[in-house]
Amino acid sequence: MKGLAPLVPDTFSSLKWRDTIMFEIPPHGDQPLIRVFDNSDELQKATGHRVCHGYFDAKENLIVATADSVAHEIGHFKDFRSGRMKVVGEIDDPQERIEARLRNEIVAILFSYAKCGQGGATLKHEVKFLDWIRYLANREDHSLLQRKIESLKFSEIQDLAEWLTLSTQSWFDRLQFIFRSYLTDEQFVLTYHASSKG
Ligand SMILES: [Zn+2]
Repeated sequence: MKGLAPLVPDTFSSLKWRDTIMFEIPPHGDQPLIRVFDNSDELQKATGHRVCHGYFDAKENLIVATADSVAHEIGHFKDFRSGRMKVVGEIDDPQERIEARLRNEIVAILFSYAKCGQGGATLKHEVKFLDWIRYLANREDHSLLQRKIESLKFSEIQDLAEWLTLSTQSWFDRLQFIFRSYLTDEQFVLTYHASSKG
């Protein structure tokens, strides 16, 4: 249970953790420890966090996820490790914060889709976003949009997410609308500092 204490609310004992964890993937080298839960109810019971998928905690080098969202959280981990993930907690400008949150989340969604196909999109806004990006590909002649998502390198996924989430794009309002429930999650805003939750 080393390194876990800061995440566990006082009311939960380590025994409680062991009872609810579905399984653990031990880390190799500098990769994160991955704790996988049956479902988001189990995850929330154990961590006390109300989160969509789980989260990647950069400080603890820990991924907590449901079985169907491991790829999404690994996307956040890879983004962080590349040095390109935006640290939302350090951004004061509200517009820039939205851009950064959308950028980070879209990197994870695209990575998960590239690895797991439609099965990697578990939440309503993810499915809507993937539908929308196919629609956009028919209208916008951007080279990365014209490629199959599964053929993109990770850095290209990051490039695409950064281009899509520029607030100067004509579709920025549309993106905010698709992600409105994600963007209004207060808990996320409050806890998004050293770690990437969502
Ligand atoms: Zn996420």
